[in-house]
Amino acid sequence: MSVERKISLTKKYMYSALIIAGAVVAAFGIRVLVGPRLKTANSGYRVVMGTFANITAVAGDSKTAGICVEAAFDKLKYVDEVMSDYKAESQLSQVNREAFGRPVHVDENLFEVLRISGEYSRQTENAFDITVGPIVDLWRQAQELKRLPTEAELAEARSRVGFGKLALNRADKTVRFGVKGMRLDLGGIAKGYAIDSAIEAMEKAGAVGGLVDLGGDVRCFGTPSDNKASWLVGLQDPAADDRLLLVLKLRDMAVATSGGYRRFTEIDGQRYSHIINPGAGASADELISVSIIAQTATAADTLATAVSVLGGEKGLELIDSLSETEAILVGAGKTAELIHTEGVRRYVDTTQAVPVYSTASKVAGQRKPWPKENQL
Ligand code: ADP
Ligand code: MG
Repeated sequence: MSVERKISLTKKYMYSALIIAGAVVAAFGIRVLVGPRLKTANSGYRVVMGTFANITAVAGDSKTAGICVEAAFDKLKYVDEVMSDYKAESQLSQVNREAFGRPVHVDENLFEVLRISGEYSRQTENAFDITVGPIVDLWRQAQELKRLPTEAELAEARSRVGFGKLALNRADKTVRFGVKGMRLDLGGIAKGYAIDSAIEAMEKAGAVGGLVDLGGDVRCFGTPSDNKASWLVGLQDPAADDRLLLVLKLRDMAVATSGGYRRFTEIDGQRYSHIINPGAGASADELISVSIIAQTATAADTLATAVSVLGGEKGLELIDSLSETEAILVGAGKTAELIHTEGVRRYVDTTQAVPVYSTASKVAGQRKPWPKENQL
């Protein structure tokens, strides 16, 4: 190689190096112009509302991100204090004790939850019904007595159930029971509402992105953490605690899961879900897992309970009729069939190295990939 050529090569490298350096400076300059790098705060797992919560906030600086996480937790705790039926001093417990005798005044948020619950009752033909308390109690009692509720007991409990037996006064924000012995149960909506309240609190406190995970029900908004294009949310395989069914990539969406795979009553070796079909008085056992993707966690939470009650056919019909709402169902039979609405595909992250196994193969003691027709 001639000396001349050597020099020109060196020059070429020099130019390349300059171009790269220039690009780095330009990129840095742009970053300075656009603003500093975003900071993420993560809470780790904390116990709240009887489950584990994990909150992430993305903001312009670490301090703001930290404040956003705490603002979100404050909301979860507040919703729990008002709407828990385990706490005797909660407003909900007061309503359940006193609303037959007199109209009970409730705060704005609880009234809002009661009003929204009524809307979901209408939308789901009463598959979702917060007045289901007396039947839930009967099934809880069945667990202790180790025997199924009798027809007479169910008929009596059903006489105390029905959203129409509830009088809500919008102007005074009061609630009154039309029948003695009614009990409101917000187990199918409180978590979703709490998540939505927490997300709102984070936005108000200055987050540009965030995610609230409350016992596996999740809502995310805005800019994802770690420079990712979407928030990644794993759905648990109902057949195995340590395995994911699939990973969803979400932006400004929520997902909630209902199902009898974790909480159930067992009598004579038979499992009965904690989700009740209010019309029939029976437990809803056709599906072991129902995940709903929707724009709010309240919608996802209530619709997951409703679809559990409605079953696969009617449930999918309902979800197909709603915009921006998708469903992933796992049947309770030995085949543990996976059924989903068409629109689910665009949320599934196929690049994740997460094995997606058939729950059916788990039943059979082997692990095989989902059958082709089930592959998303
Ligand atoms: P999870 O508790 O796992 O989130 P859900 O969101 O489906 O599951 O909530 C189930 C709870 O909702 C039950 O434990 C009970 O308190 C209440 N519930 C049961 N059946 C119904 C129903 N048909 N409509 C509204 N709430 C219900
Ligand atoms: Mg739920």
